[in-house]
Amino acid sequence: MATKEDFYKILGVDRNASDAEIKKSYRSLAMKYHPDRNKDNPTAAEAKFKEINQAYEVLSDPKKRSAYDQFGHAGVDGSAGHGGAGFGGGDFGDIFGDMFGDIFGGRRGGGGNAAQRGSDLRYNLEITLEEAVNGTEQKIRIPVLVTCDSCSGSGAKAGSSPVTCSMCHGHGQVRMQQGFFTVQQTCPTCRGTGKQIKDPCGKCYGQGRVKDEKTLSAKIPAGVDTGDRIRLSGEGEAGQQGAPSGDLYIDIQVKRHAIFNRDGANLSCEVPISFVTACLGGEIEVPTLGGKASLKIPAETQTGQTFRLRGKGVKPVRGGAIGDLLCRVKIETPVKLTADQKALVEKLGESLSSGGTHHSPQESSWLDGVKNFFDKLTG
Ligand SMILES: [Zn+2]
Ligand SMILES: [Zn+2]
Repeated sequence: MATKEDFYKILGVDRNASDAEIKKSYRSLAMKYHPDRNKDNPTAAEAKFKEINQAYEVLSDPKKRSAYDQFGHAGVDGSAGHGGAGFGGGDFGDIFGDMFGDIFGGRRGGGGNAAQRGSDLRYNLEITLEEAVNGTEQKIRIPVLVTCDSCSGSGAKAGSSPVTCSMCHGHGQVRMQQGFFTVQQTCPTCRGTGKQIKDPCGKCYGQGRVKDEKTLSAKIPAGVDTGDRIRLSGEGEAGQQGAPSGDLYIDIQVKRHAIFNRDGANLSCEVPISFVTACLGGEIEVPTLGGKASLKIPAETQTGQTFRLRGKGVKPVRGGAIGDLLCRVKIETPVKLTADQKALVEKLGESLSSGGTHHSPQESSWLDGVKNFFDKLTG
């Protein structure tokens, strides 16, 4: 233990300070003495920084704090052996994530690869059913961070180049003493890159990347459906300081179609047919995505009957058989009848009801059902 100074004194709080007060004070002191902010006297700042972290490591842990309150340094000096498990790396990481996130704009977590590959991007693309079925090529504009052309992504001003980081000597990681524990951390000075930029590029301010918008031509293969995702490798955000770019993911959303519904490889639609065609049968024209097709309607067709046109559906993007088009017929009642037509229908009605044969296939079973229903209610 490098120091025997009172931990409460180090953090500038009194002995009955709350956890929140301790955390607050720790944060402001850690910011004040962070080696990055004390470049004129880094060695002294680093020593003070370590001391603050040691004190916080004990006082932020209720068990260690109570041992320290009872026995002073002796109470926590021996904690290295059995207290190891109690040291939550997560808690430490969290506080640092917060703090460095606030100050330095770094990423949370500090997992060692902080300044690496660019982020993946996601783009929601809406296309029509025809485009989904036949495939399409779409121009999409996406906001991106791209490699700075002024410094070729190095972040250093033209004519200069990054130098090895003085804090981690190029390792990208630093060891920090936390009481008795040594913790490996992403170097806060170079954020893991191992390099420091003394003379930053004026265009990207040392980031190696600048904001831009790019237009991409995305090939959408035939057969895609809502929920499919297409990856364009390397078209995401540029990496920091020359690191590889992320990927671009295009999420497909197929718009509703005026006529067709899609269910996987099959398409379906509703087709109105005349009362006469339904009675006598006939041939009608139906729409398909590839143009018109003819459909045979048998005599005595009922509303709701579905007819299948094989191979008029969709060829799935992942392979497999082309689906079918399912046409569900709906019989239309004639409207705006003339007096003559009404007379004809009346005559037809009389003929149908006097014939003695069953002209309404569903009516009798429906009537039976209604009768049973009422019998149950009254009985
Ligand atoms: Zn630049
Ligand atoms: Zn470094």
